[in-house]
Amino acid sequence: EKLGVALVGLGYYSTDLLAPALQLTKNCELKGIVTGSPEKIPIWQEKYGIEDKNVYNYGNFDSISNNPDIDVIYVVLPPSMHAEYTIRAANTGKHVWCEKPMAPSVAECEAMIKACDDNKVKLAIGYRCQHDPNIQAYMNVAKERPFGKVKMVTSAAGYFDGRTNHWKQNKALGGGAMGDMGVYALQGARLATGEEPNSVMAQASTTRPEIYHEVEETMMFQLEFPSGARASCQTSFGINMNHLQVNYEKGWLKMEPHSSYNGNNGSMSDSTIINFPIENQQAKQMDEDAWAIMNQESLLVPGEEGLRDIRVVEAIYKSANQNCAVKI
Ligand code: NAD
Repeated sequence: EKLGVALVGLGYYSTDLLAPALQLTKNCELKGIVTGSPEKIPIWQEKYGIEDKNVYNYGNFDSISNNPDIDVIYVVLPPSMHAEYTIRAANTGKHVWCEKPMAPSVAECEAMIKACDDNKVKLAIGYRCQHDPNIQAYMNVAKERPFGKVKMVTSAAGYFDGRTNHWKQNKALGGGAMGDMGVYALQGARLATGEEPNSVMAQASTTRPEIYHEVEETMMFQLEFPSGARASCQTSFGINMNHLQVNYEKGWLKMEPHSSYNGNNGSMSDSTIINFPIENQQAKQMDEDAWAIMNQESLLVPGEEGLRDIRVVEAIYKSANQNCAVKI
């Protein structure tokens, strides 16, 4: 028995990563699509054998409630649309998976969690890295503390985006480096310390104001944690970077890359190598989330975890705008 998944939004991530990964999953399968682009429908139907009755557009999407083939609705739209579609999906009575960043605001994240609770459906956020044993390795170090307390985390996630006129450059659609790649740098700091930051200082900048005038191209942010640990984080649409370093009282851990689709690896000061083989990160994520739903277990990355990041992201924007430290 497999859960039927419907993908909402057939852009890059659905097309290049999620749909191919759904061909590898054991606990779930691609059964439906929701799209505003009619020209994509025959291509997807032919490639993945999707039946006519499982094809929806944004207008008739809510009638998915009557479709027994669909158990999970996976929202893969620009971030400004995550709340609306997650809430509509929850109201159909189907479980919801939603891509990161969960939504642009804390208020929207809270409304998404409430809609899923009210409808007694599960909500998972697409933080694929938390399903990756290479990332779980440093989460475990945070728990077991073989090197003592965390003193400093340095975390970076970015890539050079040469595109123009994309939603990532559009404020109203939820663009900006911070929500997009910044959450990977933030996750690095939160997961490596196992703590929530209580204060943040941030600086937004751009080297290409003709493209990045509504949103930041680069965000640098520094976090303070209750234990005294500090983090220095960077994210950008103009710089290729993907690394994490954690300095503890009695040792260190380094990963590069630390938030890629595959090949995340690193080492620790006691010569431990972090290099777990993983067949397909997105397939593992969806299989684990499907398994948790089928077995009424808790999800590895529920809506509450998406919200924790957005609380910090809101404080980061406030700090960058006001040019002062912001308490969380
Ligand atoms: P994309 O632009 O390639 O696709 C977005 C889709 O939304 C397109 O099919 C587009 O037609 C549709 N859409 C509907 N209304 C739209 C509107 N008003 N403006 C723009 N597009 C509209 O984007 P993507 O890279 O596939 O990202 C989609 C989501 O997936 C984002 O939340 C992104 O952060 C997330 N994502 C996650 C990962 C990951 O590793 N977890 C990787 C890439 C993207």
